[in-house]
Amino acid sequence: MARRSSPGTSGPSGTRSPARAGAAGRASVGSWAGGLYVSLEEAKKAAARAVDGLAPVIKAASREIHDNPELGLVEFKASALLTGLLEGCGYTVRRGVAGLDTAFVATSPWPPRGGSVEPADGAAGLCPARPGPFPTVALLAEYDALPGVGHGCGHNFIGAASVGAAMALAGVAADSDPFPGSLRVVGCPAEEGAVDGAGGKVALVEAGVFDDVDAALMVHPGSADSLSGRSTCRVALEVSFRGKAAHAAGAPHEGINALEAVLQTLNAINALRQHLPGTVLVHGIVARGGDAPNVVPDDGIIRLYVRAPDPDGIEPAAEKVKNCARGAAMATGCQVSFREFARSYLNLVPNRPLDEVFARNMAALGRPPARSASDGRGTGSTDMGNVSHVVPAIHPYVAITRQLGAPPSHSREFAAASVSPEGEEALIVAAKALAMTCLDLLLSPETLQAVRDAGPNSGDTDDSGGPRRGRPVSGGGGPI
Ligand SMILES: [Zn+2]
Repeated sequence: MARRSSPGTSGPSGTRSPARAGAAGRASVGSWAGGLYVSLEEAKKAAARAVDGLAPVIKAASREIHDNPELGLVEFKASALLTGLLEGCGYTVRRGVAGLDTAFVATSPWPPRGGSVEPADGAAGLCPARPGPFPTVALLAEYDALPGVGHGCGHNFIGAASVGAAMALAGVAADSDPFPGSLRVVGCPAEEGAVDGAGGKVALVEAGVFDDVDAALMVHPGSADSLSGRSTCRVALEVSFRGKAAHAAGAPHEGINALEAVLQTLNAINALRQHLPGTVLVHGIVARGGDAPNVVPDDGIIRLYVRAPDPDGIEPAAEKVKNCARGAAMATGCQVSFREFARSYLNLVPNRPLDEVFARNMAALGRPPARSASDGRGTGSTDMGNVSHVVPAIHPYVAITRQLGAPPSHSREFAAASVSPEGEEALIVAAKALAMTCLDLLLSPETLQAVRDAGPNSGDTDDSGGPRRGRPVSGGGGPI
């Protein structure tokens, strides 16, 4: 097998792997023997060393994305930066996936899933000793920013951590026998619901990017080292009223007031609140309410998020909210219409065995994570939830803010923390833990089986009594 260039384990600039020249030139981190990788721990140590060697590149990538914040679906600089790094390590990159210009899928440079590994040094093929199909593990990169506060959610960190882990693993694979499985880096635009059509992972799931994936991993920066938490289902509902303009003093009786419909809707939602389950959240803004005091507003728009802990709860709640708007339309004479302005997010259901593997690797790096504060019921939402409904997935947190007084996420202070010394130290830890967890999945059949057995379709609740999996809410884009 022709080797591609790899970052190696010695430095950030990338070195071409030496040609394989016999047994002495390989197996520096372990090797296949009789179908078993005999030195998983050595492979992990090699991956950690590789991340250390790449640290300047990984930190620079995070800083570059931080310094050039781009909103969702237009993250052209970030996407180009990350795909360039991956291609430099031999990954095959497909851009514009799922109809999203800034999405990408990068496939590992070693043999693909199910393929045989070229015999090394004239020996018999080694990987075929283990029955396929070989696993495919996905590392997810996010890189979109928020309006006003730049990378206030630290997605520069997420993209750099996942790509850094992938670069390191390419180096380890190049220096040893190829791994019996594939690594896929999935570039996921627009996680933040700040832009129309947000929810890149929803589109990627629908495009089948995860259909042959065994597990999906990412790490989010936070205020504590913790396991994956829960998140809520979320519908992004836009309510539009169409009325009739008229002179507000001269002929108000000829007008139909869309702003009044907006106000009545919001009052009705407030009245509804006490009769919604306590776990349902409704919040939003007035996006349009008229242009001038002396013109009866003929155009009113409300943007709302409706959140519920599980898929079964979100649609009834959204329907009640829509009824508030329908009543206001009838009262005022306006016409009302609805659309989802971002894709709907499902609740995150973490794969606990995979979380535990990640936790062990964090502990080995000196940072054992705690259980998540949102383990029982999350409040925020992420499109990683949709991924977790189709493949085993984790979304743990690594602390970046302890030295800065734990500023909240979605703030300028949190953005600064992502490139602070503490943030950059955490970034390297995250890349190592991701790379080590990928190795657990690729090289330990028992770990892979435990992860496969546990999800995403096993059981409705966990021991926390948390929200259930269920059928997806509507995919978004059209009226609901
Ligand atoms: Zn985020």
